[in-house]
Amino acid sequence: MLFGRKNRKPIIIPDKKVKAWKYTTCNYCSTGCSIEIGLDENQQIITTRGHAEADVNRGKLCIKGLLEHELFDSAGRGTEPLIRTQHFEPFLPTSWQKALDHSAEQIKNIQIKYGRDAFAIVSTGQLLTEEFYTLGKLVRACIGTNNYDGNTTLCMASAVSGYKRSFGLDGPPGCYDDFEHTHCLMAFGSNLPEQHPIIYWRLKEALEKRKFPLIVVDPRVTMFAQFADIHLPITPGTDCVLINAMLYVILDENLQDQSYIEANTHGFDEIKRVVQDYDPKSAQHICGIDEDTIRTVARLYAKAPSAMSIWTMGINQSTHGSDGVVNINNLNLITGNIGKKGGTSLSITGQCNAMGTREWSSCSGLPGYRYLENSTERKEVANFWRIEESFLPKKRGLSQTDIFAAIETGEIKGLWLIATNPMTSMPNTARIRKALEKLEFLIVQDVYQDVETNQYAHVYLPAAVWAEKEGCHTNTERRVNLTRNVLPPFANSKTDFWIFNQMAERFNPSNKVAFPQTPEGAFEEMKQLSKGHKTLDISAMSYDNIEKARGIQWPCREGEHHLTGEARLYTNGVFATPSGKANLIAINFFNNNEQPCQQYPFWLNSGRVVEHFHTRTRTGKIGNCNKFSPTPYMEINPDAAQKLGVTHQSYVRLVSRRGDAVVMAQLTHRVPPNMVFIPFHYHDCVNRLTLGLLDPHSRQPAFKQAAVKITAIDQKHAATINLQRRRF
Ligand code: SF4
Repeated sequence: MLFGRKNRKPIIIPDKKVKAWKYTTCNYCSTGCSIEIGLDENQQIITTRGHAEADVNRGKLCIKGLLEHELFDSAGRGTEPLIRTQHFEPFLPTSWQKALDHSAEQIKNIQIKYGRDAFAIVSTGQLLTEEFYTLGKLVRACIGTNNYDGNTTLCMASAVSGYKRSFGLDGPPGCYDDFEHTHCLMAFGSNLPEQHPIIYWRLKEALEKRKFPLIVVDPRVTMFAQFADIHLPITPGTDCVLINAMLYVILDENLQDQSYIEANTHGFDEIKRVVQDYDPKSAQHICGIDEDTIRTVARLYAKAPSAMSIWTMGINQSTHGSDGVVNINNLNLITGNIGKKGGTSLSITGQCNAMGTREWSSCSGLPGYRYLENSTERKEVANFWRIEESFLPKKRGLSQTDIFAAIETGEIKGLWLIATNPMTSMPNTARIRKALEKLEFLIVQDVYQDVETNQYAHVYLPAAVWAEKEGCHTNTERRVNLTRNVLPPFANSKTDFWIFNQMAERFNPSNKVAFPQTPEGAFEEMKQLSKGHKTLDISAMSYDNIEKARGIQWPCREGEHHLTGEARLYTNGVFATPSGKANLIAINFFNNNEQPCQQYPFWLNSGRVVEHFHTRTRTGKIGNCNKFSPTPYMEINPDAAQKLGVTHQSYVRLVSRRGDAVVMAQLTHRVPPNMVFIPFHYHDCVNRLTLGLLDPHSRQPAFKQAAVKITAIDQKHAATINLQRRRF
C-alpha cells in the first residue's frame, strides 16, 4: 500500500449550485463571525460559509455557524400566537391583534392594581441591536416599569460591573488583534477552543507566527488547558487570592510599571497594603496553586513587554465575579497593560449580541451607556424621546436574578420573557418553577414554541430568527456587524422589531413617542444619541459601510475613522472616571461559597461544549450538532468513579441540597477526583442542583460552585426518570 502526499486523493467539496450569497453575522456566540448564506436558483437557502474577507473569522466558521442555515425550518418553531387563560390549560391559536391586545391589557391591569413596577420584563443577548433599542424605548418611555433586565445578568454582568468600577464605563478595552502583539496571555476560566472556537483559532494563528507563553487558569483540564504552557488548576472561586498573590510578588520584586500607575491610576497605596496579606506561602493553601508557580507566573506576566488577560464564565459566574474582573484590571493597570497593543483586559462575551444589549437596550440604564442615576443623561434621553424626565426612574430596578425572588415574595405579578429560557438557564430550577407558577400573567416571546418556559405562559408570541430579520450585533471586541434580511419570517411568526412596535402602539396611542418603522431608522436614532457621547460613538457607521468593512469597531466618530473605528480603548491613558484616572480597587477575599463536605463531597462545575449553545433551544434541533451530545452527561475522574462503583457510560444520580439530576457518567482525567463537570445546556439537569448565590455587585449567580453527592443507580430506573422529566 502506498502512503504519502503524492498519492493522497484531494478532498472534493460538492458544488451546491449556489446562485447568490447574502451577507449576515452569526447569531450564536459573541465572536461575531461574518457568514454568507447561499441561495439556489429558486431563492431557497442551501448552505452557509464564512466570509473570507472578514477580519474576525477570515473565512472560518465553527460547527454551529456551518449549520446555522438549518435553523429556519427546524422543529418546534412557533407558527401562530397562542393564548390560554389558566396555567396548564391547552393553548389556543389566536390572531396577532388579539394576542397583543390581551397582553397590553393584562400589563396595564397589573400596573393599575399593584403599581408600575409589578410587571417585569426580561430579555436576552440574542436580539438585534435595533430591537434592543426599540424594546428599551417601549419599556422606559411607554410601559414604565423599572424591573427590566437582560439575561446579561447570567453571563457578563460581572464583567460590566468590573469595567465600570475600574474604568468608569462598560466596554472591553482590547481586541483580537492584541493576540498578534502580546508577549504573554493569561486566560481565566475560559475554555476558548470549545466556547469561542474562532477566537481560539485567531490566537492559535498568532502563536504559530510568534511563540509567547500561554497560561490557563481553570480547575478542570479543559481543551484550552491541554494546549497551555502552564495550567493552573485553581480551587473554584479563589481567583482573587491567586491574583492578589501575583500582585504581592510583583510589588515585592518591584516589577510594577510605576510611571503608568502614577500617571493614570489612583488607589495604589491601598492595594499595596491589602496584598501584603496574600504572601504566596499562605495564599497557596487557599487557591491550590503552589507558591513557586505563583511566583513564576507573576514574573512572567510583569516582565513581558506586553501581557493580556482574557476571561469568561469561570470569573463572571461567581460570588466574587465583579471583584475578579476588578482584580484582573488591577493586574493590568499595575503592569501598565491597558490601552496598548497586546496589553489589555478582554472579557470574551457570551451571546452574539450581549454587547448590543449592554450598549443600547436601556435595561440597566439608558441608551448609549447612559445612567439612570445621572440627571443630565436622564434629561438628554427624555428630551430625545419627547417624554417627561420624571417618567424615568432615578436608579436602576431589579436584575433578572432579583426579579425571580420578587415574584416569590409577591412584589412582581406579571412577566414578559423575550428569547430567554429561565426554566433551563437559571439556578435552582425548582425555585424558578414555583415562581413561574405564581405569576398572574406570563408572556413568552421566542422563536421556538417548545421552549421549556413556555409551559408556564399565558400568551406565546412566535418570533422570527436570525436572517429573517435585519439589523446589527456588537461582538466581543466592540465590532458592530450586520445581518441582512434574507427571507421572510417563518409561518406567521414576526420580527421582534415588529412585535415591539405593535406593542408600543398600545401604550403610546397618540404617538407622542416616535418609533422608527424600520431597523435602519432605529439605527439612525442610535447614531444621533451616540454622537460625541462617551466612547460608544457609532455616528460614522451606516449599514452599507458596515457591510463593506465586514464590521466596524466603536468608537467610530463622524469625520474620523469611516471604515475602521478604533481597535482599542484608553490608548491615551484617560479613563471614563470623573478624574480621568483608572481606579485601582483593593480586593479582599471572603469565602462564602458552598463547599464540598462529608455529606456532599464533590464540587459541581458546569460549562459549555462546542456543538451546543446555551439551553439547546436551537442546537438541540440541528441533527449534526445534537448527535455529538444528545444526552445529559457528567465528567467524573476514574478513581472517584471506581470508589462509587460507577462505570463508563452508566447512569448516576447526583444530589445537592436543592434537588437531584440523572446523567450519564463519562470517565476522564479532565476533572480531579473531588470534582464533576456537567455541560449546562440540558433542561432539568445541572440547574436542578445549583445554588446560585449572587455576586453583590453584579447580581450574577455563582453557577460553578456547588456541592453534590453521587450514587450509582439502576439503569432502567434512570431511563424512566429522564423520560418523565423530559415530557412536556
Ligand atoms: Fe458563530 Fe461563534 Fe461559531 Fe463564529 S465561533 S461561527 S460566531 S458560534
